[in-house]
Amino acid sequence: MVELARLTLEEVDALAFSVLRASGLSEDHARAIADTVTAAERDDSKSHGLFRIPGYVASVRSGKVTPDAVPEVRELAPAVVQVDGHNGFAPLALRVGREPLAAKAREHGIAALGVTNIYHFAALWPEVTALAEMGLVALAFTSASSFVAPHGGIKPLYGTNPMAFAWPREGRPPLVFDQSSSASARGEIQIHQRDGKPIPEGWAIDAEGNPTTDPTAALEGAQLSFGGHKGAAIALMIELLAGALIGDVFSFEASAMDNRDGGPAIGGELMIAIDPARCIAHGNRQAQLAHAETLFAKILEQDGTRLPSDRRYRARLRTPSEGITIPTALYNELKHLQQSSDT
Ligand code: NDP
Repeated sequence: MVELARLTLEEVDALAFSVLRASGLSEDHARAIADTVTAAERDDSKSHGLFRIPGYVASVRSGKVTPDAVPEVRELAPAVVQVDGHNGFAPLALRVGREPLAAKAREHGIAALGVTNIYHFAALWPEVTALAEMGLVALAFTSASSFVAPHGGIKPLYGTNPMAFAWPREGRPPLVFDQSSSASARGEIQIHQRDGKPIPEGWAIDAEGNPTTDPTAALEGAQLSFGGHKGAAIALMIELLAGALIGDVFSFEASAMDNRDGGPAIGGELMIAIDPARCIAHGNRQAQLAHAETLFAKILEQDGTRLPSDRRYRARLRTPSEGITIPTALYNELKHLQQSSDT
C-alpha cells in the first residue's frame, strides 16, 4: 500500500509556492501556478495537483521555460485579443488575458483569446471556470505533446488535446466539463506501468500498430483518441484552433522542439467567451440561465447521472476541513526540491 502524507489546503499552497519560488520562478508565476495546483488538490483532481510540481521545476532548471516571462497583451481585432506568454508557463498568461477577453465578450457578444508561446501543464477547467464566474459562457482548447495516432494511423501525431466548457449558474458554481480527446490521459498509462497493471483495451496500440494492454508497449506506441474517428476529429480541430489559427505550433512540432525534461512542451491555447445576454433579442441572462437549469434537472432525474464537475464540487466541500493526501514519496521529493533549491 502507498504511504500517504496529509496536508491542509493552506499547506498545499505554501509548499507549492515555496518550491516554485525556490526553483527560480518569479513571484507572479509561482503564485499563478500554486493557485491552479491548490485548486486541483482542493477539487480532487490529483493529476494536476502537487504531482505536477516536479515537472514545473524540471522545466525551469533545464532552461526550457523563462522563469520571469512577462505576458504581453495585444489587441488584434475588435473582438480578438492575444497574450504572448514569452516562453513562460500558462497560468499567468491566462490570468493576464482574462479581463481583456471578458471585456471584449461583453462588448461584442463573443470574443476570442489566443495565448501563444506558453507551457501548459495544468487542467483547463480553472480558466473556463473563472470566466463563467464572471457570467460568461467559456470554451478553451489546447494542444500538447505528440502522443495520439490519427484515426487509422499508428504513429503519434496529435496531443492528448483537451477542451473545456463552462456554463454560468445562478448562485452556484458553473457547470464545467474538461476532457482530453484521447481515450485516456497519458498519466493514467504511466500509473498502470508503475503499478504493474494492464491498461484497458482501446487506450493504445504498440509500435507495430497492434492493440495492446501492456502500458510499456503503449507508451512506446501510440495512444488512441476517444470514440475512434470522432475523438480524432476533435483532436484535429484542437490542433488547428490552438496551432495554425493563433499562430502557434502543432503537437508534432512542439514534440520535435522539446527537450523532454519531464515538463510540458510549448504550445498555444484558444479561449472563446460568450455573453449569453447578447445572444438573443432582448437577452435576459437570468431567463437563459433558468432555462439551462431545466435541462440539468432533467438529466439528474435519471438514476445514475450526475453533472460534469459535480465530483469536483463534492470534493470542494470536504477538503477545506479534511485536507488532502499525497504519496509520502511525493511529499519527500517536494521537500527535497524546496531545500536543494534553497541552498
Ligand atoms: P476525465 O475523463 O476524467 O473527465 C472528463 C470530464 O467528464 C470531466 O469534466 C468530468 O467531470 C466529466 N465526467 C466524468 N465522469 C462523469 C460522469 N459519470 N457523468 C458526468 N460527467 C462526468 O478527464 P480526462 O482524463 O479526459 O482529462 C483529465 C484532465 O487532463 C483535464 O482536466 C484536462 O484539461 C487535462 N489535460 C491537460 C493537458 C495539457 O496539455 N495541459 C493535456 C491533456 C489533458 P468531473 O471532473 O466532475 O469528474
